[in-house]
Amino acid sequence: MIMHDLTKKNALNLKSEASELFSFETESDLIEILEYAKKQEKNLQVIGSGTNTIFPRYFSKIVVKSSNNNFQYAEEDGDAYLEVGAAVNWDDLIDFCCNKDIYGLENLAGIPGTVGAAPIQNIGAYGQEVSNLINYVECFDTELAITRKIKAENCEFGYRKSMFQTCTNFIVTAVGFKLSKHFNPVLKHEGLQNLNFTKASDMIKKIREIRNTKLPNPMDFPNLGSFFKNPILSTEEAEKNEKLANLKRFEMPDQKVKFSAGEMLDKLNLKGMKIRNVGLWTQHALVLTSNGITSAKDIRNAEDMLKKLVADYYGIQLEREPSYL
Ligand SMILES: Cc1cc2nc3c(=O)[nH]c(=O)nc-3n(C[C@H](O)[C@H](O)[C@H](O)COP(=O)(O)OP(=O)(O)OC[C@H]3O[C@@H](n4cnc5c(N)ncnc54)[C@H](O)[C@@H]3O)c2cc1C
Repeated sequence: MIMHDLTKKNALNLKSEASELFSFETESDLIEILEYAKKQEKNLQVIGSGTNTIFPRYFSKIVVKSSNNNFQYAEEDGDAYLEVGAAVNWDDLIDFCCNKDIYGLENLAGIPGTVGAAPIQNIGAYGQEVSNLINYVECFDTELAITRKIKAENCEFGYRKSMFQTCTNFIVTAVGFKLSKHFNPVLKHEGLQNLNFTKASDMIKKIREIRNTKLPNPMDFPNLGSFFKNPILSTEEAEKNEKLANLKRFEMPDQKVKFSAGEMLDKLNLKGMKIRNVGLWTQHALVLTSNGITSAKDIRNAEDMLKKLVADYYGIQLEREPSYL
């Protein structure tokens, strides 16, 4: 049997193989793959570029990956409507928009991964979330074997959350964005507040520069970006917890307050820690890196230990951001 090596197709470089790997571009490709999977009595596992996933040593499911790199574009009353294929590299979309004077996605520059994965955890950075810019998500529904367009308001988007994380019968085939022909920079994030941009290209360049100083490049140091979500508590809960008193607070709507999971780990002196070949990045305690030969089991082991240390000290249960496949 020919095995497909996926070791270089996941950002942690975990050694991983799949006995079956198919790419799809059209609905008929997916119908064909689905029929084949039914005959084999196997489920499908969709992957993007593996920057938010922990791959197993062997995939028991049939692995599928989009090859849809198509773009469709229309303008109306100063708005820009863009439909982008799931396989398109996210950061290439940022450059495409910038070159065509299409605005809105600037804050999300530099995020690795594919367009198809962007709605799954509702990617966000520097004061913007992709859900604010999505018009609809085009999906192939493997239960009904049809393609559907799901409006953004029905995607149950939240902080690093969407309904696609639980409704795994949806394979994203394209994403429809509602963007603008006018540059209105969103500068509310603390890292951008004192800055001013007249050109989107300058803002994108700056955001990529800031990110490069904070995050290790997965090509040099295999990592998945933020490993834990920032905990959000009710103001009442936060006031009661004395251990949180010296941490930075970010006020949120609905009497909620967000804390930095990275700061919690940092204050526990965990920045730079290493257990077997899994460690926390020396510059940023929220970034888990793999420093050699590691497996999903080693990652799970480090995850459990970090969660326990934070729970024991702060009484807070951290939630993991990437998923195990
Ligand atoms: C250095 C670094 C920095 C990062 N910075 C950020 C950041 O600032 N903000 C942020 O939000 N994230 C960040 N991430 C996480 C990651 O970039 C995003 O989550 C990205 O969207 C993942 O894309 P991917 O193609 O690699 O998805 P994968 O890791 O391959 O998959 C992620 C999930 O999406 C599912 N999926 C993938 N494609 C599809 C599809 N077509 N249809 C249905 N499901 C699909 C997979 O099954 C999996 O559950 C960072 C990661 C790294 C390594």
